[in-house]
Amino acid sequence: MSIRVRYAPSPTGLQHIGGLRTALFNYLLAKSSGGSFILRIEDTDRERFDERSLQDIYDTFRWFGIQWDEGPDVGGPFGPYVQSERVTRYQEFALQLMGSGFAYEAFDSADDLREAREDGKQGYDPVFRDMPESEKQRYRDQGVQPVIRFRTPDEGTTVFEDAVLGRVKRKNRDIVTDPVLLKSDGFPTYHLAVVVDDHHMEISHVLRGQEWVPTTGLHVLLYEALGWEPPTFCHLPMVLGKDGQKLSKRHGATSVVEFRNAGYLPEAVMNYLSRLGWSYDDSREFFSRNDLETLFDVAKLSKSPAVFDYRKLDWFNGSYIREKSDAEIHDLILPFLLREGLISDPPETGQQSTIRTAVPLIKERMRVLSDAPDLLRFVLADISEWNVDELVPKKTPAADVPWYLERAKELIRDADAVPDEVLEERFRATATELGVKLGNLLMPLRVAVTGSTASPPLFGAIRLLGIETSIARVDACITLLNNST
Ligand code: GLU
Repeated sequence: MSIRVRYAPSPTGLQHIGGLRTALFNYLLAKSSGGSFILRIEDTDRERFDERSLQDIYDTFRWFGIQWDEGPDVGGPFGPYVQSERVTRYQEFALQLMGSGFAYEAFDSADDLREAREDGKQGYDPVFRDMPESEKQRYRDQGVQPVIRFRTPDEGTTVFEDAVLGRVKRKNRDIVTDPVLLKSDGFPTYHLAVVVDDHHMEISHVLRGQEWVPTTGLHVLLYEALGWEPPTFCHLPMVLGKDGQKLSKRHGATSVVEFRNAGYLPEAVMNYLSRLGWSYDDSREFFSRNDLETLFDVAKLSKSPAVFDYRKLDWFNGSYIREKSDAEIHDLILPFLLREGLISDPPETGQQSTIRTAVPLIKERMRVLSDAPDLLRFVLADISEWNVDELVPKKTPAADVPWYLERAKELIRDADAVPDEVLEERFRATATELGVKLGNLLMPLRVAVTGSTASPPLFGAIRLLGIETSIARVDACITLLNNST
């Protein structure tokens, strides 16, 4: 049987980075096994449905660069791939379950259910479980719309084999009691819809986060009640923050759009995510998409949680940035410079050539593409104000700094014609000769020229800006310091 997997997001919030990992692992299993990857939109919670979240799913994957074989936009033999367009099927199976005694009608009011949900309960009222038909009819006569509830067995144990966790057992009495399958608006709940769809879309493997393990017992019971074979479950290790808690806003960015806006490269994110709970061997860290598409193997998924390490992701991203050509980086940083108002749209010719010359200089220093504006602000915008605290190195009297700047200024007059090593040597020799620290010559100069203590390599920055402008900035800082002391 060929492998069929699905990513089944609910459009109720922005795509989470953990969800992207789930999607990736599904995609990789399909690719590595010659199977099919399906996108299914689980939009049956109409109260929480959000149009922007739906768009965000498509935007996320266009950016990430993975494509499904079947889905709402591309179609496929098992469509529709949007649950709200399949409602009659769920109703059909809810009725089948009622007919076979596995489900029953309950007349909880919508308000009761909402209140119960807000309290984190299922809103289970045992009164309807074995209520005689005649009594139920009274509710119908009053126009109360029923919900259909599953009849969870009181006894016994439900067992399933998980490809990652092994055998998982759950006492039926610990499985949620009589959950709603079909709501009074005729829409299914997640549990019914997921089972019906995974079966009808011939999903062979369900890869999803371990947070779904507690409900899988219920799904298995539903498969049994409907007389269907469950798929193979592969519950993926959780993605936690460094403190061992579920990854959340407290740890940093969590939605994929935040990573996109910060300028992470999709290939770096893919490489990083691929290692959250999966490893090829103990040492290899870099994987291209092609590598992953061939090497991914469910057998190498880990049981234990993965820790999301933002610094490690930055490191990956920096490495991928450095692998790109200067022309690629040029194109990639333009939207970030535009967003900060540092260039016009389209960029003027002068801006274009400045950026082109600057790319090799800043590439080494970038972790994310959004670092570019700060690294290039000095050359794309005028600096008319300096932070005096930054101009004055620590433990140095402010009154001495103009003197350092004067010395430094003399050393850069011909920086255009002199290689970096010679300039470095010149600064070193001068510092020794004057009996001062090298940093006291360089740091104020860096701040004067670039407006910041964190800048691209200094001599390159001076050349990029032009000697004349650089010297004018140094002079402006000398005046500023003289006036402020
Ligand atoms: N719609 C569910 C979610 O939002 C899918 C869970 C599953 O993969 O079964 O995560």
